[in-house]
Amino acid sequence: MSRPLLYLDVDGPLNPYAAKPERRPDGYSTHRMKPQGWMAQHGDTPPHRVRPLRVWLNADHGRRLLELGELYDLVWATTWGAEANTFISPVLGLPELAVVRWPTMHDAGPDSTFWKTRHLVAHAQGRPFAWVDDELDAADRGFVAAHHEGPALLHRVDARLGLCDADFAALEAFARALRSPASEPR
Ligand SMILES: [Mg+2]
Repeated sequence: MSRPLLYLDVDGPLNPYAAKPERRPDGYSTHRMKPQGWMAQHGDTPPHRVRPLRVWLNADHGRRLLELGELYDLVWATTWGAEANTFISPVLGLPELAVVRWPTMHDAGPDSTFWKTRHLVAHAQGRPFAWVDDELDAADRGFVAAHHEGPALLHRVDARLGLCDADFAALEAFARALRSPASEPR
């Protein structure tokens, strides 16, 4: 079996944007960034007048993702697109990662699925994958089970908390189970 992919969402898993705004979560540092996706939301406002996006990032996530890189091929699966490599990777100490290029964004997916889901199934081309995102749910799991041949772990992360120990443990366990010939998790 080929190496599994690990699809990484930024806002939610790495940037716990839904945490209480007045209190930065422990372990995180604050960054102010102007990615294209943020600037595009501000229409005709001159770029220097747009308030930057506040992003909380945890350098420890970078270390732990690098460890998972022993088991997975890491891939950005985020509206940040290739800008995840320019804005997020350096803060987390990650190398430049592969990037999912979305044919469309923020449109309705089939069967009440999240807009990313069908694009990730197409991107994976049957390779086993794990996906961390704060917006996936049971409809997405059903869609992947029906349309993706390989094993998949759709792992929802709480956008108030970001990636936690239990999330990393689940990702590691899934990849290790794929390596043991006796089991084929779905
Ligand atoms: Mg998200």
